[in-house]
Amino acid sequence: MTQLIDGKAVSSKLLEALKHDIATLKSAPGLAVILVGDNPASKSYIGMKKKACANLGVQSFEFLLPEASTESELIDVIDTLNARKEVHGILLQMPLPKHFDEQAMLHRIAPEKDVDGFHPVNVGNLLIGRDTFKSCTPFGVMALLQHYNIQTEGKHVVIVGRSNIVGKPMAAMLMQNEVGANATVTVCHSRTKDLASITRQADILIAAIGKPLFITKDMVGDGAVVIDVGINRVDDSSDARGYKLVGDVDYTAVAQTASAITPVPGGVGPLTIAMLMTNTVTAYKRQTEAG
Ligand code: NDP
Repeated sequence: MTQLIDGKAVSSKLLEALKHDIATLKSAPGLAVILVGDNPASKSYIGMKKKACANLGVQSFEFLLPEASTESELIDVIDTLNARKEVHGILLQMPLPKHFDEQAMLHRIAPEKDVDGFHPVNVGNLLIGRDTFKSCTPFGVMALLQHYNIQTEGKHVVIVGRSNIVGKPMAAMLMQNEVGANATVTVCHSRTKDLASITRQADILIAAIGKPLFITKDMVGDGAVVIDVGINRVDDSSDARGYKLVGDVDYTAVAQTASAITPVPGGVGPLTIAMLMTNTVTAYKRQTEAG
C-alpha cells in the first residue's frame, strides 16, 4: 500500500503550532518581501506568503520595484530593511530581471535576516552543520520525512538536481552527522550518465529538475520513497486557467510501486511557506533575544 505524503496536512499542523507560538511573543515578527518586476508566478507566490503572514499574525511589508530598477535602487531598499528593527526577515523574490546580479543582491541581505537561507554565510553554516537558516524547500522536505517517520540514517538518497535553492542544500541537510539525517547522498544533474541506473538504487528519490513527469516508473526501484519537488505548468484546456500543475515525477505510474510519494500539488509546495514562516519566527527570536 503506497503512503500518500500529504504536504497540506503537515503544513497546516506546523502553521497551527507556529500561530500559538507567535501569540506568546511580545510583538509581531516582521517579514519584508521585495519583488522586482511583475513576473506573474512571483506575484502569485508573494500573494501566498502575504496570506500566510496575515493568518499567523506576522507583519508583512511589501516592496514592489519596477522591472527597470537599477541594482543601486534595490540595494538601497535592502540596506533600509537591514536596518529596520521591526523587519526580522527579508525575502528577495527570485528570479530577478536579467540585468541584476542575483548573487550580489542576495549577499547584500543581512545574514541574520536571510530567512530564505540563501546568503553564503547561512549556506556555509548549513554545510558545516551549524544551526542556521535553512533553504525553505529542502527544509520542508526534511519536515515531511520527519513527520512521516521516514528513516534516512544509512539510506541511499538520490537527489536529481543540483540548484543552489533545492538540490545542493538538500544534499547538505541529508548528509549531516545528526539524527534525522545521516544518509548516503548521491546528487545527479544534466551531465549524469545513465541516470536511471542511479535513481533505481535510491531508497529515497528526490526530484528537483523542473521537467514535467521526467521521472518515469522504470527509473524508480520498488518500495522507494519518492519526493517530488518539481512544479511545472502544462497546458490543459479542460482547466479554467488553461494549464495544470504537475511535478517532475510521473505520479500515476510511480505511485503504483513506491512505498510513499508526494503529490503535486499538495506535496512539498505547502511546506515551503511553512518553513519560511518558521525561519521568520526564528529570526525574530534571535534578534529580539540579542536585544
Ligand atoms: P533549476 O533549473 O535551478 O535546477 C534544475 C536541476 O535539474 C539542475 O541541477 C539541472 O542540471 C537538473 N537537470 C535538468 N535536466 C536534467 C536531466 N535531463 N537529467 C538530470 N538532471 C537534470 O531548478 P530548481 O532547483 O530551482 O527547481 C527545480 C524544480 O522544483 C522546478 O520545477 C521548480 O519549479 C520546483 N521548485 C519547487 C519549489 C517548491 O516550493 N515546491 C521551490 C523551488 C523550486 P544542471 O545543473 O546540470 O543544469
